[in-house]
This record gives sequence, C-alpha cells and structure tokens, in this order.
Amino acid sequence: MAKNPKENKQEKIVLYEARKNIFPKDVKGNFRRFKWFWLLLTLGIFVFTPWIRWDRGPYASDQFLLIDLANRKFFFANIEIWPQEFYYVTGMLIMAGVGLFLITSVLGRAWCGYSCPQTVFTDMFIWVERKIEGDRNARLKLEKGAWTFEKIFKFSLKYLIWLIISILTGAVFISYFAEAPQLAKDLITLQAAPVAYITIAILTATTFIFAGFMREQMCVYMCPWPRIQGAMLDENSLTVTYNDWRGEPRTKSAKKLKAAGDLVGDCVDCDACVAVCPTGIDIRDGQQIECITCGLCIDACDNVMEKLGLEKGLISYTTLKDYTQNLALASAVSEDEKKQLLASHHANHNVLMDNRTIVPSKVRDSKTNKLFEKFKYPNWKLFLSPRNVLYFTIWGAVGIGMLVVLSLRNPLDMNILHDRNPLYVALSDGTIRNGYDIKILNMVPQPQKVELKLEGLPNAKLSLVNNNNEIFESLILDLPPDEVLPVRLYITYDPKELEEVRTNFKMIVTYLSNERTTSAVTFFEIPAK
Ligand code: SF4
Ligand code: SF4
Repeated sequence: MAKNPKENKQEKIVLYEARKNIFPKDVKGNFRRFKWFWLLLTLGIFVFTPWIRWDRGPYASDQFLLIDLANRKFFFANIEIWPQEFYYVTGMLIMAGVGLFLITSVLGRAWCGYSCPQTVFTDMFIWVERKIEGDRNARLKLEKGAWTFEKIFKFSLKYLIWLIISILTGAVFISYFAEAPQLAKDLITLQAAPVAYITIAILTATTFIFAGFMREQMCVYMCPWPRIQGAMLDENSLTVTYNDWRGEPRTKSAKKLKAAGDLVGDCVDCDACVAVCPTGIDIRDGQQIECITCGLCIDACDNVMEKLGLEKGLISYTTLKDYTQNLALASAVSEDEKKQLLASHHANHNVLMDNRTIVPSKVRDSKTNKLFEKFKYPNWKLFLSPRNVLYFTIWGAVGIGMLVVLSLRNPLDMNILHDRNPLYVALSDGTIRNGYDIKILNMVPQPQKVELKLEGLPNAKLSLVNNNNEIFESLILDLPPDEVLPVRLYITYDPKELEEVRTNFKMIVTYLSNERTTSAVTFFEIPAK
C-alpha cells in the first residue's frame, strides 16, 4: 500500500536562524540626549588622554597616562608603577569590578547601555549609516532595493567612513603604549615598528566587524556580562520595564474603543518602542537578555504619550518591587470587575498574569483621566539597599587603601642575593669575605645619590668589585633615574669577632636628598670553628 507522502515529511527543525538586519529609527528625548553626551565624553576621554602632557622632568616620559611595556612601567600623572608593584593594578581592577557590580545593582545594565565600547561604537556607526542612507524606512527601502548606483555609492561611502573610524580607533588605542606625538609622526611617515601596524590592523578589523556588522549579536551571543549581571540584579535594581499595569489592554483603536465604553490601557500598539530599539526587541514581551537598557524605547514611548496627552513613563526605568506592587494595585480582585472586563469588546487583549487581570479602571481616574496616585515609582532610597551599601563600602575601602598605600609608597627599594657558591672565601690575612649581588631600585624619574651602610655587623669592610679593592665603611652610589642599579659587593670580616657561623645583619640604603630609606636583612657566613 502506497504511503501518504505527508507521512514521510518530517518537521524541519531549524537550529540556526540567520540574523535579520536591524534598522533602528532615530529618536529624540532625554535618554538619547544623555547617550550622545556620554558617547562624546567617553570617546573624548579615550581619544585625548594619550595627548595630555605631564611634566616629570627631563628623565621620564611626559605623557599623562602611559603603559610603557618596553620598560615595564605604568605612568599615571604623578603615579609610577613598577612591575613588582602590580598589586596597585590589582587594586584598580578590584575597584573597577566592584564599581561595575555597584552600577549593575543600582542601575541594571547601565554599563551595556551607555559605556560599553561595543555600544558606543555601534551607536556611532549607526549614526554614520543614518546620515548617509537616511532613517529607518529609507534604510529598509535601500536594503531591499536593487543594486543601483545610488545604493553602491551610499554603501561604499558608509564602509569607507566606518573604516576610517576603525583605523583611528586602533591608532588611538596603541597611543596608550607609546609616546603619542612621536608615534603619530612615525605612523604617518611609515617609520613605526611593524607591531604597531599589525596591532592597528587587528583593532581596525575588530572595530569594523563588531560595530558595523555584528552589533547586537556581540551582546547576545558573545559577551558573558549579560549572563553574569543576571545574578547581580535584585528586586531593587532599576531595569527598563514596560508597565503593562497601565499599558494593557493595548489597542491600536483606543479612541474608538473608549468611545464605545471599552476599558483599554495606555499602549496604542504603535511599535515606536520596537522601531528605535538597537537590539530589535519588543520590551513589552518582558525582560530579555537582549535588552541593554539604553532607554531609547522610553524616549520613543514618552513622545507617544506626550502626543496622546497621557503621563510619560509607560516604559520606564523601574524596580521589580515597584512594578509588582503596581501590577497588584491594577489587577482585578472582585468577580464583578472581572465580569465587566470580560464583557468588554476588547477582552481578548487583557493580560492575565498570576491569575490577575489588569483592570484599567483601577489605573486611571475616568473623570480626570489621570493615573491614580497610589502607584509606586523609584526614588533615591533604592540606592541605599544593604547590598548597594556593602558594594560601596568595599569599593571605598579598596580606594582608600590604595590611596594610603600610594601615599606611603617608597620609591627606593633593594634586593640582595648572597653568593651561594662559595658561601665565603678565606683570605690570606685570615679574614673572611662574603659576596653579594645587590639591586637598588630608584623608582623616581630623577638621578639620586644614596648611601649604603650596614647595621649589626660593626667594623665590616665593604669593597666594590672592579674598584681596586678600595675599602669603605659605607658607600656613596649614584643611581640613574628610573632604573635599577646592580652592585656587586664584598664584605670582609675578621671571623674571630663573630660567634655564630651565620650572622644576620641589615643593609640600609638612604637617599641623600631626602633621607628616605630602605633596608633588607641578609647574612655573613664564616667557616665552623
Ligand atoms: S528594549 Fe529599550 S532599553 Fe532595551 S535595548 Fe531596546 S530600546 Fe534599549
Ligand atoms: S511606544 Fe509605547 S504606546 Fe507605542 S507600542 Fe510601545 S509601549 Fe505601546
């Protein structure tokens, strides 16, 4: 018996859905304005910081912020960090991490929406795209249209400007690792090191691809932060929320339905919030991992509410706690109210959540057409939740700790290595000589004179290798600026004056200019008696 061909058909399971291009519409409003301000501020800081000069004298770089990989030093204003002081960098990373926790706990994904380089560069690239190709509808039309001269020209111009921005981004980034003015000259005259061009090429490619083509996919699929931050939000964190307690039942024909006595919510289902979303989502579907909380849908919806003569804030930054309370206040409790709602022509659109039905008459006063005052909105007290206070305390404590450690930082340091083989040398006059490799670190950008002396080994005689065996009781040494001075030192002693085989003593080095000092303990070894 022949089989029904339909039975052989298997349902096609799609494991990968190709990305649909998103064409966010331009929007005006407070959040958009703030985003422009923040974009210019952060980009300005990024671009101009390597060009700020800071006088450190003739022996050190005059770049305000310099990560000097070749000499393994980090300069930031008057702060200079050497490799062995990496704990400062650890402290800064802890502060950045805890700061991010604090911002996330208070403002949700504010980092993603405003400061993340992926967001900032994507915003800038979309701005370029909009200037060349027009706003959403024009871009949609151009995308779908045939490859005309106009389309090729516009696309080429867009890619060219993206490419220039990407190259400049790479060049600015590497300016943090070299003297910016000199590097700029070298790059232009093609005299820079190959590694500089290779780094710029890599950064150009990543900026061009990530901000130009991958855009929201970076946030949704590649960045771990959206997953991590989920664990940091609580019921007091601000997130962009569609206040369905006042928006539902949504309808495109609010006027008509209201005139017919229907109960409708504030949402007129215009999709303005969807059209402006850079990640292409509908915030009315609830919290989604794609939402970077940029606030642009708030602007779009506020503009619509303004035109309708309704209060702004149908979409708003709100906390889960306030939202839940408002939803409860707006929900039906009596069977009569439920029946009245179900009798409405528009009943199909009512939102049922936790078996509660939103009742518009509980939201808005029908006489004044104003929202009732019982609803809750975020206020400054949410910043004072125990968790936020704890984060802030940790952040402040690490910051104060770092400031204290930095203010007490000793720019003079010393390492001593006693000779291992032989541990001592018996000289012909009966005295014993020990050898030491000493490294004196002068961590300031000025040359310094220091005195090296011993404590706990009276009458010891010091001599420097290659110094004609001249004997000193203490040594005066010249330290070059910002460098390590290696010293090969001999100490000679009469063993009869020592009781132990090994005698510990201290080497002390002191700046002659300001008496700052450092010391280290080592030992003098003699043969067993
Ligand atoms: S839903 Fe709103 S806040 Fe979230 S990404 Fe889209 S526009 Fe930004
Ligand atoms: S912009 Fe406001 S009114 Fe329009 S669909 Fe979005 S939530 Fe509804």
